[in-house]
Amino acid sequence: LGGSISRAIQQMSNATIIDEKVLNECLNEITRALLQSDVQFKLVRDMQTNIKKIVNLDDLAAGHNKRKIIQQAIFNELCKMLDPGKPAFTPKKGKTSVVMFVGLQGSGKTTTCTKYAYYHQKKGWKPALVCADTFRAGAFDQLKQNATKAKIPFYGSYMESDPVKIAVEGVERFKKENCDLIIVDTSGRHKQEAALFEEMRQVSEATKPDLVIFVMDSSIGQAAFDQAQAFKQSVAVGAVIVTKMDGHAKGGGALSAVAATKSPVIFIGTGEHMDEFEVFDVKPFVSRLLGMGDWSGFMDKIHEVVPMDQQPELLQKLSEGNFTLRIMYEQFQNILKMGPIGQVFSMLPGFSAELMPKGREKESQAKIKRYMTMMDSMTNEELDSSNPKLMNESRMMRIARGSGRHIREVMEMMEEYKRLAKIWSKMKGLKIPKKGEMSAL
Ligand code: GDP
Ligand code: MG
Repeated sequence: LGGSISRAIQQMSNATIIDEKVLNECLNEITRALLQSDVQFKLVRDMQTNIKKIVNLDDLAAGHNKRKIIQQAIFNELCKMLDPGKPAFTPKKGKTSVVMFVGLQGSGKTTTCTKYAYYHQKKGWKPALVCADTFRAGAFDQLKQNATKAKIPFYGSYMESDPVKIAVEGVERFKKENCDLIIVDTSGRHKQEAALFEEMRQVSEATKPDLVIFVMDSSIGQAAFDQAQAFKQSVAVGAVIVTKMDGHAKGGGALSAVAATKSPVIFIGTGEHMDEFEVFDVKPFVSRLLGMGDWSGFMDKIHEVVPMDQQPELLQKLSEGNFTLRIMYEQFQNILKMGPIGQVFSMLPGFSAELMPKGREKESQAKIKRYMTMMDSMTNEELDSSNPKLMNESRMMRIARGSGRHIREVMEMMEEYKRLAKIWSKMKGLKIPKKGEMSAL
């Protein structure tokens, strides 16, 4: 896909006379590429129409950077298509919310329910899981197993066959226990059928969820629109989670799901494990859709803002992929100074969305400072190791004592470290382009 888009753009920039015919050829080629990425035909056609309105032929003819103009227009248009214009309902910590998960069987609902619960639990919430899937044999066992592993309270039954009854009982019980995030997992059946949608309608009516999340497998392709729409017609879907983004699928179906449900994507699933779950970040997602890789914008930025003499060392560390606590410490220093490198790092997908959420800079800075205080109590061996296993409980106890923090906070920092190390490791073996060599798409 990346190849064909680059080719199309290449043809474009090689043409000496930019006229409508060339622009059309270029757009047709990109259309084919996006279709291969599972973006719905109608959406691609809409995008094509919009691009034609946006890209001013006179600008192109006047010799501005044609490639950049078209690239930017396509990128922006796709980002816009992923933004339904209003945010999803966000549960509030300490206040009871009921969140219902819907989606076809195999889409990843049960797995994602646990990830969602675990994600919030780590942030100090009191989540609970309710298994309202009485259709699939073993559904309760699966949820029970996941929940037990994550130490999350759960509710379900082997005997009861009425999903509505279980859902209501579970929600009531956890409301009494003052859980602030009550998550209802539902059945999916094998295909879209009237009985499934009727069941979803009933469960929703009985439990009155604050949020219904549609879970979508990134590999369902062109089926995404109809599937999302069918669920939206029976329950008030308010958010989307796209799973299996670790696979080959580019996830173009997400655009369809957003269009059909008029709801934003809030998280993506990137693996079978509990912590393989990320806050949705539109730019890297679109980059991937276009085959740009998550990192091209990042690399551009490095060349733009990092002083030349600091580039080689930074890029070397990046390409080695070993993220040590010392590197984390240095990057935290940079972020606090908000010097050029700090700006660059705040652009990293995981850094920006989670470590430093917009509008909560003060809190984030305090957290980073707390982490740095704890790292000040580490030995050189600990700081320079990229093996998180080195950090056993007794070392963490010592660090906690040395820095006057609670061991729980040291553990939390190590979780953060592991998460950042994972992001960092994606840069491993990265071919570092020289300035000016960055391919646009
Ligand atoms: P449900 O039928 O909708 O409840 O789907 P499940 O949660 O049972 O998931 C179906 C399969 O997809 C299981 O084997 C999961 O381990 C797998 N799965 C779920 N999410 C992901 C993901 O993000 N990545 C990968 N690789 N597998 C996933
Ligand atoms: Mg399930």
